[in-house]
Amino acid sequence: MIDRPAHDGRAGARSRELFERAARHIPGGVNSPVRAFSSVGGQPPFIRRAHGCTLETEDGASLIDYVCTWGPALLGHGREEVVDAVCEAARRGLSFGACAAAEGEFAALICASVPSMRDGMVRLVNSGTEATMSALRLARGFTGKTKIIKCDGGYHGHADLLLVAAGSGAATLGIPGSAGVPEGAVRDTLTVPFNDAEATAAALTAHRGDVAAIIVEPIAGNMGCIPPAPGYLQELRRLATEHETVLIFDEVMTGFRVALGGAQERYGVTPDLTCLGKIVGGGLPVGAYGGRRDLMSTIAPLGPVYQAGTLSGNPLGVAAGLKTLQLLIEEDPYGSLERTTRKLVEGLAQASATHDIPVQLAHVGPMFGLFFTARPVANYEDAKTSDLARFSTWHAGMLERGVYLAPSQFEAGFLSTAHDESTIERTLAAAAQVFENL
Ligand SMILES: *Cc1c(COP(=O)(O)O)cnc(C)c1O
Repeated sequence: MIDRPAHDGRAGARSRELFERAARHIPGGVNSPVRAFSSVGGQPPFIRRAHGCTLETEDGASLIDYVCTWGPALLGHGREEVVDAVCEAARRGLSFGACAAAEGEFAALICASVPSMRDGMVRLVNSGTEATMSALRLARGFTGKTKIIKCDGGYHGHADLLLVAAGSGAATLGIPGSAGVPEGAVRDTLTVPFNDAEATAAALTAHRGDVAAIIVEPIAGNMGCIPPAPGYLQELRRLATEHETVLIFDEVMTGFRVALGGAQERYGVTPDLTCLGKIVGGGLPVGAYGGRRDLMSTIAPLGPVYQAGTLSGNPLGVAAGLKTLQLLIEEDPYGSLERTTRKLVEGLAQASATHDIPVQLAHVGPMFGLFFTARPVANYEDAKTSDLARFSTWHAGMLERGVYLAPSQFEAGFLSTAHDESTIERTLAAAAQVFENL
């Protein structure tokens, strides 16, 4: 039953019914809190199929998707070659729990693509959370130091030690820490503002000799999209070297998205360790962490830092990730992704100016952000000045017109190779109407 026009992406009768059923047995009806519509109001539409840049809802609406499964779908949904590779792998066995040829091929391709891994090594895991958690354990094990530095509003997955001033769903729901995290787990986590190298230097000095790692999203993406200020990443690199601290770039979101080699390639700054997730699995649950050979050589079974996984490097995830990487290398879509995204962002800037709506817009490659604030946004404090009520109205208006945006002011938007000029034009036509009514 469709109870609204077909282009209306808000939850119709069928989605509402499915949500009610899900909510009986799944907390909040969702298996990850970012999918809930609690901050924008209403209920989430249920998706029955995705293809290219389009989501089809259970109510029969077609939506232009700017969430792209929170990043992984850089090649669009259901890219045939990737699906074929997964199906072929599945027929040979879902998991061996033993060595398989494709793992080495995949690892070699990841290492060749990501500058910090070029002469190093990589370990496959099953999520971004596992990647960051493991990289930090490694940094502590390698340096023998205990403290870590992260940014306010930075999100690095949901491990205990990282749930301090966290972004993404934690920011959206206003619970930047978490109940259930013992004080001891976060005692050694120091936080500083993003884009503030001086604050980082001060923290390193105050805790001289005790800081194992600085972990940072090189382009902040979990408090909205905030590019690094000129020189910021270079300064972090210099400070980490000076203080013999491991510099970790969490490129779970930016890896293979803003360039094949991620933000580190784009900005020419090489961290000691890099965390990957999202695109590296081509839509399946895969994460990875890797970098300097001396560091990676301290992981079991080579060294004393323990980290393991029953399904790590499983054939399906490896098949999807490997095929995705091969296609990205073969097709080099980064120039065209940049142009399409610029067209979108420039169009949004124009439409908001026409209707006198103060916004801050940013994009780096096919990753973009729109804040409803007049204040330039360089960190989480700035991002929090956004008009959240206005964001909710914007979100609902776009959804009603068939454009699916992340249901939070504090999330980035993503394009894929399946978004073309006409997709952007349709999006901007919807945006013009919504800005007019804001
Ligand atoms: C999504 C994300 C994570 C967590 O990855 P999961 O696969 O959801 O565990 C970590 N860091 C960053 C920067 C992310 O965007």
